[in-house]
Amino acid sequence: MDDLLEQVELLESSANLSTSIGDVQKAIDMLMAARAKIAADPKTAPVTLAKLQDAFKKTLETAQKDLKPIYSGLNKYGKALDKKFKDKPLPSAENDALSSHPSLINRAIAMHLLREGQFGVASTFIEEANRRPPHPEPTPNTPNPYIRDSWEKDIAEGTFNSEKLQQQFADMYHILHELRDARNLQPAIQWARQRSDVLEARGSNLEFELCRLQFICLFAQAQDDDMEDENPSGPLHAVAYAQRELAPFQKRYAREIQQLICATVFWQNIEHSPYQRLFYNDSAWEEVAHSFNREFCSLLGLSADSPLFIAATAGAIALPYLLKMQAIMKEKRTEWTTQDELPVEIPLPSQYHFHSIFVCPVSKEQTTDANPPMMMPCGHVIAQESLDKLSKGGRFKCPYCPNESQPKDARKVVL
Ligand SMILES: [Zn+2]
Repeated sequence: MDDLLEQVELLESSANLSTSIGDVQKAIDMLMAARAKIAADPKTAPVTLAKLQDAFKKTLETAQKDLKPIYSGLNKYGKALDKKFKDKPLPSAENDALSSHPSLINRAIAMHLLREGQFGVASTFIEEANRRPPHPEPTPNTPNPYIRDSWEKDIAEGTFNSEKLQQQFADMYHILHELRDARNLQPAIQWARQRSDVLEARGSNLEFELCRLQFICLFAQAQDDDMEDENPSGPLHAVAYAQRELAPFQKRYAREIQQLICATVFWQNIEHSPYQRLFYNDSAWEEVAHSFNREFCSLLGLSADSPLFIAATAGAIALPYLLKMQAIMKEKRTEWTTQDELPVEIPLPSQYHFHSIFVCPVSKEQTTDANPPMMMPCGHVIAQESLDKLSKGGRFKCPYCPNESQPKDARKVVL
């Protein structure tokens, strides 16, 4: 992989098209100037054209010469790619479970493009997908595919309402841009304030986090003596802001607000105060931007990351394992018969584990809502039913360590 990265770096640094574009622009400028000159005085045409010939030829030659490193860079990159991926078989189409749902795939692609802010590409894609409606093909699990669900129909029948989603994502990108690039919290605070109730019901801290960052910004900015300033800053204004804006958060975030107010005592040397961590946090902006992104998507009923991206990444991780398994099955002439279940464990990174399960180490059964995992005071976890059996209602010993406890001391674990 390092070879490939090296080649990409090389391409980016040396073999980019900017010099060639400059050369071509020069040639165009030259032609335009000549045209203007001839248009102004047609008599000068022969001289102007004669003069132009050599200069124009030279510019084109330079453009050709500047293109050379790009060709050789691309060549080298192609070779590095071939070297890295040689002899890697492509997965066969035997287990293609998706060809029975082409409109779902189109929908996933359209949604991905919309949520990535690629609005132009998304609308072209939707338009073309509508023009050529997909034809579902039978697969082993879906021998008679037909479009059933309305959400599968919408893109196949051209009723997919992308405009509304597009507007919503455009709003999201505008607010994110203001946060990340312009360091302006106001649009995000306004958005959160309008949805204060929903966010609070979800247990979200977004609105408070945004207001806290606003306080910190006001506090840290150099005090401006100019009374005309629309947005005065400095510690005093930060305190005024806290009195004005943080009051509604008093009940839920009393401790955090106390910290902010106490920090103002150290206004002259905040970097040596116990509150230094709050005021010098480089990742604070990225954290609120991320948190805003997550809340925005969940209010739309969507996950914060694109499902298509997650599926493709997980698929890329799983592919080598599946190919290996396919080769082994071929060798042993066996078949993979379990439906909707993978025959091998795929080691996905922890952020790709969406449905955590817990298997009780005593009963070896998966926990359920009716039989939840319970943590004993020693920190060991077993299923409720196992705990009931072990304790019989009285004091009992943990099966994994010498500690004893009462069933009432065990706490339900929510995964
Ligand atoms: Zn224990």
